[in-house]
Amino acid sequence: MTRIRKFWSIVTACGILLAAVAGEGQFHSQQVVKKVPTTHKVVALTFDDGPHPKTTPALLSVLQAKNVKATFFVLGENAEKFPAALKTIVDAGEEVGNHSYSHRFSRKISDADFIEEVARGEQAIAKIAPKPSLYRPPGGGYSDRRVMDLKQMGYTTVLWTVDTRDWEGRSSNDIINTVMKNVKPGDIVLMHEGDCARGTPAAVEVIIDKLREQGYNFVTVSELLQYYEMRE
Ligand SMILES: [Zn+2]
Repeated sequence: MTRIRKFWSIVTACGILLAAVAGEGQFHSQQVVKKVPTTHKVVALTFDDGPHPKTTPALLSVLQAKNVKATFFVLGENAEKFPAALKTIVDAGEEVGNHSYSHRFSRKISDADFIEEVARGEQAIAKIAPKPSLYRPPGGGYSDRRVMDLKQMGYTTVLWTVDTRDWEGRSSNDIINTVMKNVKPGDIVLMHEGDCARGTPAAVEVIIDKLREQGYNFVTVSELLQYYEMRE
């Protein structure tokens, strides 16, 4: 284990050096992505905790009608429970990320359990979707060690900038207002699937229209990562 850790610390050091040489405009996958610095009016909508037999079809119907691609951070156990719903996400051309197997908070579990959660989530998801390369930690908790483990497993850690708190059962209007008040170019918007987030699909429909009126385009998180720009 020590030897492996040492190996990875050297790999990391080299990675950081390369990133420094490459310049600030490059995206460094070692880091945690909360937003992407860009002057382009792009925003990524993200939906956690699915797939879900009710909210997945409702969200897809809005996204497809508006021709918007979003990123779904799904749970492995829900992928196993609702494989047909996950398949509809994939077939619609939406992006699928890993949100762990069973939503255990990564800071509260052992290193081995954490890796198991990520790997089991991936196995369940990859039976239906392409192998994910984006990981969103349940509850948003992370540490340098976790980010490094994820990097080693081929993942970029993705958080968010705009938290709609839609899982609290907030109304569509509240969700819309939170996004409209806070969103900026390069932001990642956090929303959810599931019984607690019933106001979300209707909110998404309005959010897309209102942001488009302001000149925004919608991209997946992977696409958003391409927008890294040199900071002045
Ligand atoms: Zn979650």
